[in-house]
Amino acid sequence: MTQQGWNFDNSYARLPESFFRRIEPVPVKSPELVILNKPLAETLGLDSTELQSEEGVQVLAGNELPAGSQPIAQAYGGHQFGHFTMLGDGRAVLLGEQVNPAGNRFDIQLKGSGRTPFSRGGDGRAALGPMLREYIISEAIHALGIPTNRSLAVVTTGESVFRETKLPGSILTRVAASHLRIGTFEYAARKGNIEELKLFADYAIKRHYPEIEMKDNRYLALFEEVIKRQAELIARWQHVGFIHGVMNTDNMTISGETIDYGPCAFMDEYHPETVFSSIDVQGRYAYQNQAAIGQWNLARFAETLVPLMHEKQEQAIELANEALSKYGNLYHQHWLSGMRAKLGLQNEEEQDESLIEELLEMMKEHRADYTNTFRALTLDKPAETAMNGSDEFAQWHARWQERLSRQENSRESSLQLMKISNPAVIPRNHRVEEALEAAVKEGDYSVMERLLEVLSRPYAYTSDQEKYARLPESSHYPYQTYCGT
Ligand code: AMP
Ligand code: MG
Repeated sequence: MTQQGWNFDNSYARLPESFFRRIEPVPVKSPELVILNKPLAETLGLDSTELQSEEGVQVLAGNELPAGSQPIAQAYGGHQFGHFTMLGDGRAVLLGEQVNPAGNRFDIQLKGSGRTPFSRGGDGRAALGPMLREYIISEAIHALGIPTNRSLAVVTTGESVFRETKLPGSILTRVAASHLRIGTFEYAARKGNIEELKLFADYAIKRHYPEIEMKDNRYLALFEEVIKRQAELIARWQHVGFIHGVMNTDNMTISGETIDYGPCAFMDEYHPETVFSSIDVQGRYAYQNQAAIGQWNLARFAETLVPLMHEKQEQAIELANEALSKYGNLYHQHWLSGMRAKLGLQNEEEQDESLIEELLEMMKEHRADYTNTFRALTLDKPAETAMNGSDEFAQWHARWQERLSRQENSRESSLQLMKISNPAVIPRNHRVEEALEAAVKEGDYSVMERLLEVLSRPYAYTSDQEKYARLPESSHYPYQTYCGT
């Protein structure tokens, strides 16, 4: 183990050569650390003080390799907006897998680390604003209790990147259970080497689902496990109004973690058709489509596993279809139980779903803020919702109160359930923008640090969170986010 605490294994780099290219990060001029996630460093077994030292920063910038690292760019493909393309890490390098003192394994990846054989026309670099944005949103998603990759650090490079304008360059250090994607399976399947595909599937099983290793049909079991994780993940995005924005198959993990924070954002006003991404003109990845897209992506995953599931193709397809047919119900059960919790419902009644749907319908009609509506209900301040004053809301509220009194659990326990199910704060787009502007334009990171602190305890309901729950001025609409930034 090194002074900084690196303790690398490189299991991915032991896969067949076709799965990656050996490549080192391209050095940068004058790196400076602008943010470091100390609690995460500690979880990883890394020494924050050492990471902040000159040598530590050189590592986080890709100028020096940590001991034990065998850096690679991963090969993968993916369906982007429905169309298959061969991709790969075009601006990221996997340094290796940090094995922490508890024995858990984490991919350590530098994003924005320079060109790779997969860069195509890109410069391999990243701008500061988008890397800080990914840091904020991924850490917020983690604090909300939703599986996600994490952000360890951001450095500025002292170099410029050129997008529409000249921007400060930056590198983000990402931490993930792995970067095995549906797109990696698609890549392996299209290569047409069944032995390598099988080897990769076995690797994925060993890494994420060792409990199914001994099953009769472990490839079918792998598919079933990923279905479960994705169904739950997407339901949990829905519960907090999170729109991923670019649910291409290369951005969907086998581990069930959220990755690739590009054009994602949290919804303010509730509307099922909400889309933030400037390039998603058809609304393919709109809020209301996320669950169905999850299924579409899983179908692409199934196609890659068919040759492994059964020697007879027809039977393999039947097995895959049968497994996939459970996704809808699995997703719905997760969604429903989470929505029940948001309303403090602890037992199940058949009419619960219509109670939930009616509320959402009213929210849509009255353009109610998604997070703050549930926040107001949690605080028992219905007058603070946009629907207040309408007869239908008064009737709905009475119905909900009756429903709550029909359960045996105390009001207090329902309130507790609502508090842990309805975030008091989310990364509001205007707050994120404000933090990024102070950081990028003024070099002032205090706004971002305060925001991160508030977002780290989204269910705390403290008074210092109140101003972060407030809505933006209407001039902030429509909010747009950008890919490939
Ligand atoms: P994404 O939309 O972030 O999932 O990226 C899709 C593909 O484009 C991936 O292969 C990325 O590595 C690649 N890519 C995105 N931005 C750049 C860039 N600036 N330079 C090189 N490759 C990039
Ligand atoms: Mg991607």
